[in-house]
Amino acid sequence: PVVTRFAPSPTGYLHIGGARTALFNWLYARGRGGKFLLRIEDTDRARSTPEATEAILKGLTWLGLDWDGEPVSQFARKDRHAEVAREMLANGTAYKCFSTPEEIEAFREAARAENRSTLFQSPWRDADPATYPDAPYVIRLKAPRDGQTVVHDAVQGDVTFGNDQLDDMVLLRSDGTPTYMHAVVVDDHDMGVTHIIRGDDHLTNAARQIQIFAAMGWEIPVFAHIPLIHGPDGKKLSKRHGAVGLQEYASMGYPASAMRNYLARLGWSHGDDELFDDAQALEWFDLPGIGKAPARLDFKKLEHVSGHHIAQMQDGPLMQELDAFLAETGAAPLTDIQRSRIESALSVLKAKAKTLPALLEQAHFALIERPVQIEEKAAASLDSVSRGILSELTAALQNDSWNRDELEAAAKQIGESHGLGLGKVAAPLRAALAGRSSTPSVFDMMLALGREEALARLHDQAG
Ligand code: GLU
Repeated sequence: PVVTRFAPSPTGYLHIGGARTALFNWLYARGRGGKFLLRIEDTDRARSTPEATEAILKGLTWLGLDWDGEPVSQFARKDRHAEVAREMLANGTAYKCFSTPEEIEAFREAARAENRSTLFQSPWRDADPATYPDAPYVIRLKAPRDGQTVVHDAVQGDVTFGNDQLDDMVLLRSDGTPTYMHAVVVDDHDMGVTHIIRGDDHLTNAARQIQIFAAMGWEIPVFAHIPLIHGPDGKKLSKRHGAVGLQEYASMGYPASAMRNYLARLGWSHGDDELFDDAQALEWFDLPGIGKAPARLDFKKLEHVSGHHIAQMQDGPLMQELDAFLAETGAAPLTDIQRSRIESALSVLKAKAKTLPALLEQAHFALIERPVQIEEKAAASLDSVSRGILSELTAALQNDSWNRDELEAAAKQIGESHGLGLGKVAAPLRAALAGRSSTPSVFDMMLALGREEALARLHDQAG
């Protein structure tokens, strides 16, 4: 069975690149009935914070990526990391190194002076334990000196590292804490991880990690190192390109389903398919579809994907997205009356909006209560003729049945009696109903507001 993991370091927010890495691992596991695990790499005690962990969990939850079991704390496993390092001592694949930082620096200086490799070669590698001093030591991997270490990468192909380029890395520091490289391998093994999908900034680490797996005789997982995300200009993504935190996208009002679709396409493709739902992504996602070239952020494309998802979404999930968006931005939750008005107009609202705030902007008429504040531009359409029309219309619609055909017929008829087309009649209606000049169709608004509220708003402006 497939087991993947997302292993963020809790030192900040959930980066868009991290979110994509998590998504790929989630898609790969969930599409195969496997497990998706979460490991918080909190061994760097100075930089790791509980707030950052919270932010990461919140981001993953928002994105809809559920993980199996409890998140694993890497720091909490430090005894196990030490235990494995000692097993490696026992099986001869690691050794105690008593070299002091000064000695190591002296080695490097001499190597530089003689133009040799500055990779440290410990004099303790093959030392007789009988000669060990009573002094602090680190545990180093007895890495192979000759030959090569090959990362068989599902994205990058075979990537070969000469073993003369890989030094005897430290596994356990003199204070007994594990190094990052060692902890990752022990954790991935113990968690039963079968596939490691992560950024290609970890490709060199993979070579080192493979040496540890091999030293323990553990099965080496499948590696898939994905190219990092670049900005629209093709340069490494940074804040100057715009939003880099997933939460910022949530705040901008992109629905989570759209972000999943968009992020999936950042670096992965399935033919020409640009727009898809979760079921399709889960069915299609595979490692060969991951490209070797860095994907570029494309905000226009994101808008397009977002608009598609909003238009396609069922009403229930879309209302949930709206609720989540309002909560995210600290806005007041919808009242029952606002909710029912929006729900009535939802098919109209969702057809046009590219983002959730754009949808709420169009739903302004449904959010406000009387007296309607009329913006200057809209007020211009409320002249005495228009006010007279509103008055006639209010009277005419008292007893008509409340449906689109009747509303349209009444508006048309009254307009004609004044020699005005429907467009001219609509402007004061818009102003009265929404206080604005850019709104959904007046009939859609009237239907969503209901007879009583709609006619009251018309009456308020009638002359
Ligand atoms: N903690 C590492 C990071 O945040 C990821 C390590 C890994 O995936 O192996 O970059």
